[in-house]
Amino acid sequence: MMNIFLTLDYEIFFGEPTGTTKKCITEPTQRLMDITERTGVPMTYFIDIGYLIQLEKFKGQFRRLNVDFELFKNQVQRLAKQGNDCQLHIHPHWEDSFFDGKRWNIDISRYKLRDFESSLLHSMFERYKKRLERLTSQPVQSYRAGGWCLQPFKEVRKAFEANGILLDSTVFPGGHRTDEVYHYDFRDTPSKTHYNFYKKLTEEDADGPFLEYPIAAHTYHPLFFWQLFGWGRLMPSQHKPLGDGKPISTGGEKRQYLTQKSRLPVSLDGYFAKKLPEALKAQVKKGIGEDFVVIGHPKACTEYSLKKLEEFIVNHKDEHNFMTFDQVLNSREKD
Ligand SMILES: [Zn+2]
Repeated sequence: MMNIFLTLDYEIFFGEPTGTTKKCITEPTQRLMDITERTGVPMTYFIDIGYLIQLEKFKGQFRRLNVDFELFKNQVQRLAKQGNDCQLHIHPHWEDSFFDGKRWNIDISRYKLRDFESSLLHSMFERYKKRLERLTSQPVQSYRAGGWCLQPFKEVRKAFEANGILLDSTVFPGGHRTDEVYHYDFRDTPSKTHYNFYKKLTEEDADGPFLEYPIAAHTYHPLFFWQLFGWGRLMPSQHKPLGDGKPISTGGEKRQYLTQKSRLPVSLDGYFAKKLPEALKAQVKKGIGEDFVVIGHPKACTEYSLKKLEEFIVNHKDEHNFMTFDQVLNSREKD
């Protein structure tokens, strides 16, 4: 029996255009909440609270942002009430981004937390965490870094300690990317489905105070991507993302996906949802632990993915245990 964690990064897009709160966040999330309602399976949402903080900052100046602010705020409160786990997701570039009356001007020159000077990093972390707790009236103890960027861990470690963060779910084993925006290297990660750590994110320390629950990884073949791009064109009603924005473009990825194998997180987004049963089987077969963490984004859900996700839950919920990270931490407390 595996513990399955369905996790969702709750955010708009950061490319051009960013898309709207309604289409990228609240409408697709409502669909996910309907699935939770029907199946009784709660999910973990990593809330991009920096966006809410910016909405709050600019809504006095631009009345239309009031609508987005209320949509976001009310839905996160409903998510918590429904029994979902709402935890911290920091995209620090919100600090440098602003609304000009028409659109968000996203400045990603400081995309990673460690791009910020130490005192600013710490005050931001504390402010974001407290804002989320005030919103949900629940403790925030788990974290997922924006864009998988949490290395080197040293400075953020102090923020974890100061703010009572106990669990992280950022790593995906085998993942590696270094370019002008992203920086992560998960090629050397313990062969476990969770581990304690302290000094380094990818180094086990049995006495470490933090728990890492890596996102499961899967190898996707070029054929999968030919199908993904093909179906997107042939059946847009099933395969077009519900979100109306575009991701940050770094170029050259599509070609790479179509020509070589890719090591990527197990995901419930779009066509990736097709691979959930196969990826779960592979994880069981590996025999490295009892956890299976899946990442997703409301903005990247499609009609197809929502159908596949619900099928996956219904077909596996008797045999496996669908969980949230607050349940992990609560059960440890009792031990
Ligand atoms: Zn994110």
